Amino acid sequence: MRSSGTVLVTGGSGYIAGHLIRMLLDQGWAVNATLRDLGREADLRRQLGGTYASLRFFEADLTSDKGWRAAVDGCSHVCHVASPLPAHAPHAADDLIVPAREGVLRALRFARAAGVTRFVQTSSVAAIAYGHGSGIHRFTEADWTNTDARGLPAYVLSKTLAERAARDWMAAEGGDMAFVSINPAVVLGPLNSAAHSASIEVVRLLLSGHMPGCPDIGFGVVDVRDVVDLHLRALTAEGIDGERFVASGPFLKLIDVARILRQELGAQARRVPMRHLPDWMVHAAAMISPTVRQIVGELGNVRDCDAGHAFARLGWSARPVEDTIVDCARSLIAQGLVRP
Ligand code: NAP
Repeated sequence: MRSSGTVLVTGGSGYIAGHLIRMLLDQGWAVNATLRDLGREADLRRQLGGTYASLRFFEADLTSDKGWRAAVDGCSHVCHVASPLPAHAPHAADDLIVPAREGVLRALRFARAAGVTRFVQTSSVAAIAYGHGSGIHRFTEADWTNTDARGLPAYVLSKTLAERAARDWMAAEGGDMAFVSINPAVVLGPLNSAAHSASIEVVRLLLSGHMPGCPDIGFGVVDVRDVVDLHLRALTAEGIDGERFVASGPFLKLIDVARILRQELGAQARRVPMRHLPDWMVHAAAMISPTVRQIVGELGNVRDCDAGHAFARLGWSARPVEDTIVDCARSLIAQGLVRP
């Protein structure tokens, strides 16, 4: 389906945004994209591989008003994708919370002033599935992360507080602008470039042979191409103002991901560990490693988020998870980010 209109995509340098920009342009949208550093424009255009006269870049940071008016001027729609997603826990939770929350409020404010008709926020299952105790849980869009729970990771807080703040702002000041959130699980799939999201690290680590075994942790997996497809559906579907859409395929344990890599990639996956790492060993390693400490609370947990609403309401579907994992691994190898 060809589309018309101009979409502001925030965080144009990011993994999901890169795929989104390409698909929007291919479907006939014009795109304005924000970057923190306009010096990256030439590289990003090279990655897109086309001239794309209907793509323009603007400099804007989530933490400052500078540049936002020009970026959103003339836009009919916004996909607010930018938010900090670091590979390691920050020194202070506010390093993530402040840009995430202030950033979405800033984008909303400038969008409404510019007459944008629909604003799509890239939220996360992090805003749905945490703070409800350990064990096995199944979640839907009706659930919210409990921010009063102790020990929540800063990223989880940042995504929850940002989506809450956006919804509160919309209720008070949103006017006629429609608002939808997309709440993806862990996003994997092919890379646009060597610069990749922290979510890809899990596949890189498995392939690299740096993991002695697979701890009993897991996550929902969704393909970046399917996440982008859901954003596109959310930009145009009728009657979905205010809704949330989980974007997730199956919940996999790390050992399942390892098994898929071994089965599908043969020798290229020879370093992928195929044994479980017992919980006591993870607890012991956590005493000396801050990175391992981050996963101790996740041992044995299942946070399965149901994407049935996106299937039923938007006709969305998720491709086989094996394709997602294999395409991710192959593209890590092709980009030279891991030597099998
Ligand atoms: P990514 O590649 O790290 O992209 C994050 C983007 O946010 C980058 O473009 C980054 O810009 C931008 N950003 C960070 N801080 C900023 C600031 N202060 N001002 C302006 N831009 C800033 O990660 P991604 O996976 O594509 O994630 C995109 C969105 O999807 C995020 O909202 C994330 O929370 C959400 N999400 C991701 C996953 C996942 O598994 N990947 C799952 C659920 C939700 P720079 O390049 O300049 O740093």
